[in-house]
Parts: sequence; C-alpha cells; structure tokens
Amino acid sequence: MTALAPRVSVAIPVFNEADVLPELLRRLMGVLEGLPGGPHEVVFVDDGSSDATVSLLKAAAERDLRISIVALSRNFGHQAAITAALDHAHGDAVVVMDADLQDPPEAIPTLLAKLAEGFDVVYARRGERHEPWYLRACYYLFYRLIAVLSDTRLPLDAGDFAVLSRPVIEAMRSAPERHRYLRGLRSWVGFRQTGITVDRGTRVAGVSKYRPLKLLRLAFDGLFAFSTVPLRAAAVVGGVAVAGSLLFVAYAVYAKLVLDQSPQGFTALIVAIVFSLGVQLMFLGVIGEYVGRVYEEVKGRPHYVVREVIRHT
Ligand code: UDP
Ligand code: MG
Repeated sequence: MTALAPRVSVAIPVFNEADVLPELLRRLMGVLEGLPGGPHEVVFVDDGSSDATVSLLKAAAERDLRISIVALSRNFGHQAAITAALDHAHGDAVVVMDADLQDPPEAIPTLLAKLAEGFDVVYARRGERHEPWYLRACYYLFYRLIAVLSDTRLPLDAGDFAVLSRPVIEAMRSAPERHRYLRGLRSWVGFRQTGITVDRGTRVAGVSKYRPLKLLRLAFDGLFAFSTVPLRAAAVVGGVAVAGSLLFVAYAVYAKLVLDQSPQGFTALIVAIVFSLGVQLMFLGVIGEYVGRVYEEVKGRPHYVVREVIRHT
C-alpha cells in the first residue's frame, strides 16, 4: 500500500516531440500543482531525439526543479525508454504516459484516487479512440487475440498509460527480459489491479513514431513474450494433416480393393505438396521467431544505454 498522498513520478518517453512539449509541460505541470503530497517529479527519457526535444527539456529542467532528464545514447524504442524511466523514477507511485497528449494528464488525479483506494496498478482502459477505423479495428482484434492466446490474463484495450505502486515497479524491474511488452509484464506481476476508462485522443502535434511495421513488431513482442500457443499450433496442424492423409489412404485402399479403381488427380497431388510444404515453412518461421528471441536474451545486453542524466534531487 502506498501512503495516502504519495510522492508521484511521471515517466514519459520522448522521441522527437519538440512540437508537443510546450503544451505537454503546460498541462502536466498544471495537474502536478493540484496534487497533494510531493515533492513530485517528472522523468523524461529522451530516446535519441534528433530535433529540439533535448534543448527544450533542458531549458524546462532549469526552470523547474521537478523535471529530470535521462538521455539515451540512441533510439532504443518506446518500451526500452519506458523501462529507463521506471529505473530512474523515485516516487512511491509512478505514472507512465506518452508525450503526445493522447494520454490526457488531467486523468492523473483520477488514476491516483483509485490507487489510494488500495490498488497497486490502475491502468487506463481506452474509451473512445479517435484513430482511423482500420487502426481501431487492428487494435480491437489484436487485444482480443492476445487475450485468448496469452498464459497471463491481459486486460482488454489497456495501453501503457497507468499508475503503478512501488512494489509493482520493483517487480517489473526484476524481470530481465529484453523484448519488453510492458503492459503484459504489468499484468504478469499480479497485485491488485484495476482499470478506469479514459478517452484516448489524437496526437496534439507531431507525427506518430509507430509506423505500421513497428506496431506489428510490438504486437509480435506481445504475442511471443506471453504465449507459446504458436509453437503448439504446429503440432495441432500437423496432427490434422496426418489424420487427413490417413483417411485418404483408407479411401485409396477401399477404392482399389472394392471399387476396383485408383484415385486420380495430378492437381490434388500438387495442392497437397504445396500445402504441406507451406505449413512446414510457416512453422519453421514460428520456431525461428522463438529461437531468435532466445538468442537475444542469452546475449544479455542492457536494454538501453544512458548518455546523460540531469536531475536536481
Ligand atoms: N517513443 C519513444 N521512442 C520511440 C517511439 C516512440 O520514446 O522509438 C515515444 C513517443 O515520443 C511518445 C510515445 O513513445 O511519447 C508513444 O509514441 P507514439 O505517440 O508515436 O505512438 P502511437 O500513440 O502512435 O502508438
Ligand atoms: Mg501517440
């Protein structure tokens, strides 16, 4: 349990967000003013930005002692940046949010109020989304697919926007895995968790850093990190194929001995060969995916490299 008025850290990964930073700082700092307790802090992790993000952050950190900056040595990706932020946040409760104001800072007091009721994780369930319909459809399908396939119970439509208690952070930090799917890890650690509905707006400025391919990679990280169902699927599909071919053998014998004819069909032969070859290659790919991930884990490289830390406390 956290204290009634915990010291709050807000952890924000930023990658080329110069356009949105002034507005973010204005709204976020306004919200922090209104929070009881403190001193609160905001930990910005610069994920290798190449625009004015770092200089804007440094200027802000000079004016406001509550702002700390962790600058990474290059772009390590959203999830690694959040990991860095969690490692550098000192608060009793840590709010994880995006920089682009899709996660409204005004929801933070509500999240904290719920935490004070005795929860350890309060995540924002996406209410309305304002993205294009095809993206919404992808998100919808993905969250449901992974909920079905995963060994951990993952809440539907919950992103990274959440407030976490200190014990949860320490538990998440103790997981050394590389391909991090933090919203999954957050569920995996357990404790008392709940969600509240928060509308997810569109980006206030700048462009999304998740191109479709990157989004797909995050989806795969979630799937492969929290499920081994794809591996088992190979056995199921293989079993069905074997059963099918045994049935066909029985039919062939019957046709030969009783009907006195042999089954024909060059086309059927080609289809059968191409099908079984395709299935084999596909599952080789699935196995490769897991093997590749094992290789990445075994190398044990750090998740990110820090170039510079600026903090006043
Ligand atoms: N981000 C990051 N590193 C990356 C990509 C994104 O730190 O390689 C940050 C980005 O600055 C933002 C958050 O992660 O604060 C979410 O990114 P974005 O809004 O582009 O993703 P989307 O909301 O479109 O999924
Ligand atoms: Mg966004």
